[in-house]
Amino acid sequence: MAKTKNQAKKGKSICIICQKEKKGYPVRDDLFITTVRSLKQKLGIATNNVLVVCNDCSTEHKKRRSAFEKKILQYAAIGAVLGLIFLVISRSLQGLVMAILLVLFMAALALVQYHPASEIKEEKKSE
Ligand SMILES: [Zn+2]
Repeated sequence: MAKTKNQAKKGKSICIICQKEKKGYPVRDDLFITTVRSLKQKLGIATNNVLVVCNDCSTEHKKRRSAFEKKILQYAAIGAVLGLIFLVISRSLQGLVMAILLVLFMAALALVQYHPASEIKEEKKSE
């Protein structure tokens, strides 16, 4: 691998839906993407590709993104409720830790359907 030119140099722009090399709307960096990227850099398998959503896939992207957003809200709510119940029942520090773990676990479950946000204009702002 003789590709040690410049870490800041960006690679190809790849559509996250069709996986093709296309121009499109850049995907927003979030905690998940930054984490995966830094992991890949540590492992030396970083491609430095720019993740985008191409025009053809924008509808699919919006669908997946809003499905994911709904899911993570649902799971967070379930996790919070279960965690609260747990906390009330146990009334201890251990219970608090378990409650937090539960919420994190639910959030992790929602990540299975993870889909990043992009710079595509969204119809509704999440406020
Ligand atoms: Zn595409």
